[in-house]
Amino acid sequence: MIKVLVNGAGGKMGSEVVRSVVQEEGLILVGGVDPKDSGRDIGDLVGIEKKGIIVEHQLSDALKNSKPEVVVDFTSPAIIYENAKMVLGAGINMVIGTTGLTAAQRDDLAQICTETGANCLIAPNFSLGAVLLMKVSTEIVKYLPNVEIVELHHNHKLDAPSGTAKLTAEKMAAARVLEPDADETIESLSGVRGGRYENIPIHSIRLPGYVAHQEVLFGGYGEILTLRHDSLDRKSFMPGVMLACKKVMTTKGLVYGLENYLE
Ligand code: NAP
Repeated sequence: MIKVLVNGAGGKMGSEVVRSVVQEEGLILVGGVDPKDSGRDIGDLVGIEKKGIIVEHQLSDALKNSKPEVVVDFTSPAIIYENAKMVLGAGINMVIGTTGLTAAQRDDLAQICTETGANCLIAPNFSLGAVLLMKVSTEIVKYLPNVEIVELHHNHKLDAPSGTAKLTAEKMAAARVLEPDADETIESLSGVRGGRYENIPIHSIRLPGYVAHQEVLFGGYGEILTLRHDSLDRKSFMPGVMLACKKVMTTKGLVYGLENYLE
């Protein structure tokens, strides 16, 4: 049984992870951290039967007290880098769903993994459909280089653009062989053409009602090809998170993107 601790256990994603871990064969929940819910039984916190595991206030205490083999982190872009340095620095494996880590920070964390022997998966998106959308996009962009991304999320999401949109852009930029047409539009209102990442425009929509959605639009001459993925329920991320908790035990070093665990 792989011992799992959930950081951000009271959050929208973290509570879903807690409920999934307790049902998953081969995994055992040993701890949870969430400052505002510390002191509560983790089962009570996520709406299941009591588990006899008290939610901790500090990640550092939880690592000492529950001795996890894997820490799953769904907290906040503001604290994920410090969390990851602490966990990986202690030689403990980590599955990171929290978005917001920069490429330079990922490099630092990879170096820590090399030094301590910890393994780590950073996945901006754990849903199979979203991973497949990225994979197909990298094929299409070879033929249709004019592309834009629209990502749509609930209005409580803290960062923009989404980690998935950035990873999709990175992968397409690496795969794109033909030059896209020059964008000669002059914005009369700053930002209306979106933000450019890897020379691909990304447009972020934030509205109540959305969960997590992404469109990739390819323009050709007299044709448009649109791919769209919709995560309608946070349960869609759970098979990927459970798989990651198991594979991170044996997949060496730091890996970026769930697709690398599927191949
Ligand atoms: P959320 O509901 O706000 O949950 C975050 C949780 O972390 C909250 O309970 C928060 O507590 C807690 N927290 C804050 N500071 C903490 C600390 N120092 N130690 C431990 N826990 C702390 O957000 P969410 O929707 O679950 O999303 C969390 C992250 O996952 C975001 O970055 C989001 O973009 C990302 N995400 C990734 C995927 C994916 O597939 N990779 C899917 C969905 C979301 P408070 O409420 O007290 O602040």
